[in-house]
Order: sequence, then structure tokens, then C-alpha cells
Amino acid sequence: MSKEIYNPYHTAQKQFDSVAEKIGLDQDMREFLRQPMKEFHFTIPVKMDDGSTKIFKGYRIQHNDALGPAKGGIRFHPEETADTVRALSMWMTWKCSLLGLPLGGGKGGVVCDPRLLSEREQERLCRGYVRNLFKNMGPTIDVPAPDVMTNAQHMLWMLDEYETIAGGKYPGVITGKPVAMGGSLGRTEATGFGVIYVLRESLRELGINIGETTAAIQGFGNVARHAALKYTELGGKVLIVSCWDNNDKKAYSFYKKDGLDIEQLIAITDSFGTIDKDKARNLGIEILPGDAWIEQDVDILIPAALENQITIDNVNKISGQVKVIVEGANGPTSPEADQVLREKNIFVVPDFLANAGGVTCSYFEQVQSNSNFYWEKDEVLEKLDKKMTSAFKDVYALARRENLYMRDAAYVIAINRVAQAVKLRGWI
Ligand code: NAD
Repeated sequence: MSKEIYNPYHTAQKQFDSVAEKIGLDQDMREFLRQPMKEFHFTIPVKMDDGSTKIFKGYRIQHNDALGPAKGGIRFHPEETADTVRALSMWMTWKCSLLGLPLGGGKGGVVCDPRLLSEREQERLCRGYVRNLFKNMGPTIDVPAPDVMTNAQHMLWMLDEYETIAGGKYPGVITGKPVAMGGSLGRTEATGFGVIYVLRESLRELGINIGETTAAIQGFGNVARHAALKYTELGGKVLIVSCWDNNDKKAYSFYKKDGLDIEQLIAITDSFGTIDKDKARNLGIEILPGDAWIEQDVDILIPAALENQITIDNVNKISGQVKVIVEGANGPTSPEADQVLREKNIFVVPDFLANAGGVTCSYFEQVQSNSNFYWEKDEVLEKLDKKMTSAFKDVYALARRENLYMRDAAYVIAINRVAQAVKLRGWI
């Protein structure tokens, strides 16, 4: 499917509408929940290093805060749009609700390419973003985090700007901070490990021994890498991973019949998640076309790169051997392809359950920052496993009881909780 016709906000609304219909949600509640409560669109003038000034477009969208302060990342991307931010803010609402976190859903973005900005220009952009949003963010209002092309350093500049304006220390205003500056241990691994915690539970329910399974993974960035590490630690074999090569402007898959050595692969991968092809060949790894990952005869597929990757164009290339798909990325499956997966009877763990480890650990960071007391890494990961496993069990139990597709069951739980909070508050 081409970029022009793919609109994540339409996908998010379509998914919501279909579940709202299923659970018979009141019309006024539907209207309220199918769009964001608040949107901030602003311009950020940034003094560039050459003395000129450039104007950047910024967004922060708070979809719903009935369950608690809005929570969600800020993306820096040249193709960022208000609709992408709207969709992601909506998915954050469902994700926080499903995991039982006392948080709402928000998302932010700036239309820019940080790869083309100097460190100082990025710092001014981060500080400008906070100056625009200051009155509408904070530990009790809206708590941002890093996302696509933003990192711990960006979060620290934003925190510093907030604290400078506020005249006090508020480490709980932002998460994804460097560990030495109030970040949480375990945050780096959290999303990828969370993906595997729910995979482990899925296989247990399906009566499949993880040690006898094979997997194909799309992406080799933060999520994919940590998922691959945890999965192999539990005995699984990753046969193929794919990644984007920005020099060649295309994706490649890296395949080894007997299973890839993940540590070895990480050692030849750059910070953007691109694997060095020459070094891979020297290790006896076969280089295949970018979409080869989806066609492999494996038991498990983990799309963990970006949205709109399993589409009507390739969904029928999925091997009959595949039993489980765990969506590490946000929105990797188009609604049309999702319909085919349902018909094929593949067990799908939906994105807002599968990749919720990130926001769950961000919540842990918020709690630690607000109380100024930090936990050991083992404690963080143990709490993360408990939360992910318990959310999975809730969804699976409902799916079994009501004979629902896992995505629908997850939506039913998440939407009902938010709708109930809206009602209890007397908003509707
Ligand atoms: P990342 O930037 O670290 O890695 C992305 C990976 O995808 C890279 O290896 C890149 O080469 C690869 N990739 C990009 N385009 C590709 C293509 N066409 N084919 C194959 N590979 C391709 O990103 P990440 O943090 O790992 O996030 C991945 C996904 O997970 C995104 O959808 C993100 O929104 C979602 N997610 C991330 C987190 C988190 O904590 N990092 C939390 C929740 C959801």
C-alpha cells in the first residue's frame, strides 16, 4: 500500500468504530473517544548555526486523560503529520488503559530531520518545544517521552527547560531520561523484553514449547534487538531479521538456516539499527531481499520496524507454518491484512498489548522520579513481566470467553475502562 493512501488516524478510528459497535457504546461516548480531547499546534523558531532562523512545526495531542495525565512520546520526523500524532495519541490511551496504568494517552511530534541538524540546533528545538507547551505539560498533566529519532539527551534538554521556567526540580515531567539523570534501569530493554513476555504466555496457552520454535523479525533496532535477545535466551531460534539500509535506500533480510547469533549481529549493527552487509557475509549470513522475512517457514513473526508492513499485498505470502504474530511495532498490520490473518486463524498479539513494555517502564520511571527513589534493574524487569503477563491473561481470558480475536478483546477491555472513567467523572 502506498504512503499517500495510508492514514494511521483512519486506521485507529476504524478499529475503534468497529469495537464501539460491538460493545454497543453510546453515540455521545463514541463521538468523544474517536477523536482527541486537546490538540496543540505551534511553530518553533530556531536560530540556526549559520545565523539564519528556521521555523519548525510542532504538535502535542492529548487524546484522553480520564484515567490520568496524558503519556506518550515525541517524534522528530520529516514526514510527521497531525494525523499520525492523533493516531498514536489514541493508541497510547488504549495501551495505558489495557495495562492498568493510571495514565491517559498523548503524543507529540516536530516536522524536522534531526540527522540534518547540529547538536546545538537540536537543543534549541527541544527547548522551543517546551516553551510552547509549558502550561499544558507537567507530572500531573502530560508526561512526554522519547520516540522515533528522539533520545535521552533530547529529553534532558526538555526537562531542563521545563525546570528553568518552573524554577524547581520536576524529574517526573518527562521519561526516557539518561539513567544517571533520573532515568529507570531496564527502560532500554523494556519494550523488546515485553514483546517476548507476551509471546511466552501465548505459546504456553497454545501448548507450544518455545525451545522448539523459530522466528522471523522485521527490524533490528531497539525493540527488535532486545526481543531477539530475550527470545533466544528462552531457547527460540531467530532465522531471519531485516533492516533498512539508508545508503542503498532499501531493506535487506539477514538469514541463517541454523539460527542467527544475536550478540554477534548486534556487534555489526550501527546505532540506527542497520546491519553491515559485508561483515554479515563474512559470518556466513545470507543476504536476502528486504521482504524475505515475511515469507519464511517459521513459527513466529515479529514485525518490529514500523507501521503498515503487513498489508493486503504481502499477507498471503505468510507461510502456513506461522502460528503466532507478535506486533512489536505500532500499527504494523493494515486493517485489510488483519482480516486475512483472522481468516487464516493466526494468533495475533496486537501492538498496544505487545509493545506496552515501553510505556509500562516509563510509568515506573515516573513513579521513581516523583518519589526520588530508584529501583534495581531486576526489580524493574520483574515488575514489568508481572504487568505484561497479567494484561495478556486478561485479554486472552476475554478472547476465549467471548470467542473474540485478540485485537478485539484488547480493545474491548481498554475502551470499556476509559469509557467507565469518563462516565464516573461525569463528563458524559
Ligand atoms: P529503531 O529506530 O530503534 O529501529 C527501527 C528498525 O527498523 C531499524 O533496524 C531499521 O533499520 C528497521 N527498518 C526501518 N524500515 C524498515 C523496512 N522497511 N524494512 C525492514 N526494516 C526496517 O526503532 P524502535 O525503537 O526499535 O521502534 C520500532 C517500532 O516499535 C516502531 O513502530 C515504534 O513506534 C515501536 N515502539 C517502540 C518502542 C520503544 O520503546 N522503542 C515502544 C513502543 C513501540
